[in-house]
Amino acid sequence: KNVTRRFSVEQPLFSAAPRELMAVKDVSLCIEKGTTLGLVGESGCGKSTLAKIVAHLLPPSSGDVLLEGESIWHGSHEVIHSLPRRIQMIFQDPVSSLNPRKSIGKSIQEALDVHRVGSSADRKKAVNELLERVGMRAEHYGRYPHEFSGGQRQRIAIARALVLNPDFIVCDEAVSALDVSVQAQVLNLLADLQHDFGLTYMFISHDLAVIGHVSDVIAVMYLGRLVELASTQDLFDKALHPYTQMLLDAVPVPVPGRRSVGSNQTGDLPSPLAPPAGCPFHPRCKQAMPVCSKVLPQWLEIDKNHHVLCHLYA
Ligand code: SF4
Ligand code: MG
Repeated sequence: KNVTRRFSVEQPLFSAAPRELMAVKDVSLCIEKGTTLGLVGESGCGKSTLAKIVAHLLPPSSGDVLLEGESIWHGSHEVIHSLPRRIQMIFQDPVSSLNPRKSIGKSIQEALDVHRVGSSADRKKAVNELLERVGMRAEHYGRYPHEFSGGQRQRIAIARALVLNPDFIVCDEAVSALDVSVQAQVLNLLADLQHDFGLTYMFISHDLAVIGHVSDVIAVMYLGRLVELASTQDLFDKALHPYTQMLLDAVPVPVPGRRSVGSNQTGDLPSPLAPPAGCPFHPRCKQAMPVCSKVLPQWLEIDKNHHVLCHLYA
């Protein structure tokens, strides 16, 4: 709800540069239990910052995150204490999230040990079952991260995220480092786990094709702001925001003979240090009007489940 995150910039490169960077600006969205919200945008748009705020890893400058109605940033001690058993995060690079000197079984088991769940034999058994559930084998327990491929390491990271039985998992570019065929396997695994455990996902990627594959609802972010929010179907069928349309044009089209329009004609992401006035997208927007460089558009409800931040629809 209304999440904003500023960072102070320690050493501005130019004296005229502002000392604050707004990574996330007034973002509000809601994820229904058991569904997947996909968050898409170019790198630097603030999606990883938002992910960390939602996963309780980075406090917002203002605003809050509610988990089943309870504040995770201003809630009671009890709520905060329960969070590791409710929210987990999976990152792009399992190499940096897994301790290279620990066997993968021990890494997965760590949270169970910290929370003293059952006897040590119970915990080991739970980890072995989880390894098999994510497509690994119980014999892998004593082996080390470097012995596995990128896809296997991501399965291990998923097992580790699941070990405390959370309801909600934030996946930040969780398959972006993997080959396309391995990506599909890991996405299928995540879908199976969602079905079996009733998980809720916030799935973040710069890749709209991946997002479209896994999400029920898609949120599009640009320079720290949400610019469009719609069901996956609506977003692919009737995208409203010119930025969303540009992202869709850049999605590779698997149909032979159909060409996609290159996206590079529309330029690069401006520096978040000097965001444009008015609509943040106006310097790249082919449909920009005079008002766009002066006035920030309002967040409009076009349909019950379709929102957009653009003057074209006002
Ligand atoms: Fe383009 Fe104007 Fe809409 Fe921004 S508000 S996306 S500049 S038309
Ligand atoms: Mg990122």
